[in-house]
Amino acid sequence: MSDSPLLPVKDALNRILSNFAPLTSEPVELLSANGRVLSEDIRSEFDLPPFDNSSMDGFALHAADRPAQSGGEPVTVRVIGDIPAGVEPTLTLLPGQAARIMTGAPLPAGADCVAPVEDTDFPYRESRHLPDAVRITRFPSAGANIRPRGQDTAAGELLLSAGQLLHPPAVALLASLGRANVLVQRQPRVAVLSTGDELVKPGMPLRSGKIYESNSLLIGGLAAQAGAIPLQLGIAVDQPEIIREKLDQAIAAGVDLILTSAGVSVGVYDYVRQVIEENGRLDLWRVNMRPGKPLAYGRYKTTPVIGLPGNPVSAFVGFIVFVVPVIQRLLGLPDRSRNLRRARLEHLVVSDGRESYLRAAVQNGSDGLTASITSHQGSGNLLSIVRSNALLIIPSGVKSLPAGSEVDIWLLADTVVEG
Ligand code: AMP
Ligand code: MG
Repeated sequence: MSDSPLLPVKDALNRILSNFAPLTSEPVELLSANGRVLSEDIRSEFDLPPFDNSSMDGFALHAADRPAQSGGEPVTVRVIGDIPAGVEPTLTLLPGQAARIMTGAPLPAGADCVAPVEDTDFPYRESRHLPDAVRITRFPSAGANIRPRGQDTAAGELLLSAGQLLHPPAVALLASLGRANVLVQRQPRVAVLSTGDELVKPGMPLRSGKIYESNSLLIGGLAAQAGAIPLQLGIAVDQPEIIREKLDQAIAAGVDLILTSAGVSVGVYDYVRQVIEENGRLDLWRVNMRPGKPLAYGRYKTTPVIGLPGNPVSAFVGFIVFVVPVIQRLLGLPDRSRNLRRARLEHLVVSDGRESYLRAAVQNGSDGLTASITSHQGSGNLLSIVRSNALLIIPSGVKSLPAGSEVDIWLLADTVVEG
């Protein structure tokens, strides 16, 4: 493996992606629909709003009662009824008549405009008593303060399309159509396994030579953020039978994908590789990237496995570059994981010629975005990720970039930092 050629990142990604297709769909209640991917086209079955209604608390009027010149004398009209929201009006307005009406209430027959209470001599919203007559100080023109039936959408219009991500306004729109359930893509179930004799679960005492296990939180959390459901398998020590037992748990749970960290390179104790090779097949590539050169893809029995590197930063970059697109494919989403912008480098950066993904802090400068590297870039250093909001990409073949160069940055706002 050490002298196999370095595989370009794009080729490795395409090879992995060619093994995945969108999962099936399932119905969910609207309360659980936020963040899910829609798998049906949504058309309205009726007009929205479903009836002409008032957009103000005020008085429904006949526009024909409006004085001839604008700014004319106030007009006094007789109040013949009261229309609260939620009630179908039975009255019909004749010329010279008005009805008190509340926001959202259906317009009565005959009315064609609404004067808000502020434009009358009866500006009391809370009053239960109904005046016999009201003076309109500013008479509205026809259509004023009315939300006509179908203003938002007409029956039959395509409102949402299969493949789009549901957010709260879209879910609210579904509710306004009367939907209680909606068809969405099934979420991929992803098993997460950490391997290594040195790993200790946080909260347990740390003996010398050991470290706290962190990749399962990183990988499981990122998987959940990408829209998958993580299944935590815990830590497997470097023994083939323990690793096999854990992987069999994933198979029994029927996961769509297994993510392992560590144990797939060429170390003496890298038994994940061996267990997968004996119970399926494994492709191990040297990918032309930094960090995260060794990357494994294969199947344990029939379930796909992506073997991420053990170093937390390498696992992170491997996840962002390779696993997020896989989860998006399973969810039926187009691959839009790379949120690329251009930024100006605040200082010199160097690379070894591999395609490099450095952890960077990107800020809004006076003339565009600026980028600087966050803390020490060693592949074990989680802090460099925590302090970053972007990956700075140095193309393959480039060994250094001076301060002031324009570089590609991959904004991680959705995956790592807020805002
Ligand atoms: P390996 O791939 O087993 O050679 O591991 C590479 C480095 O990553 C070693 O320093 C490991 O201790 C570290 N490492 C591996 N797995 C984890 C994990 N789950 N959490 C934190 N560090 C890890
Ligand atoms: Mg190890």
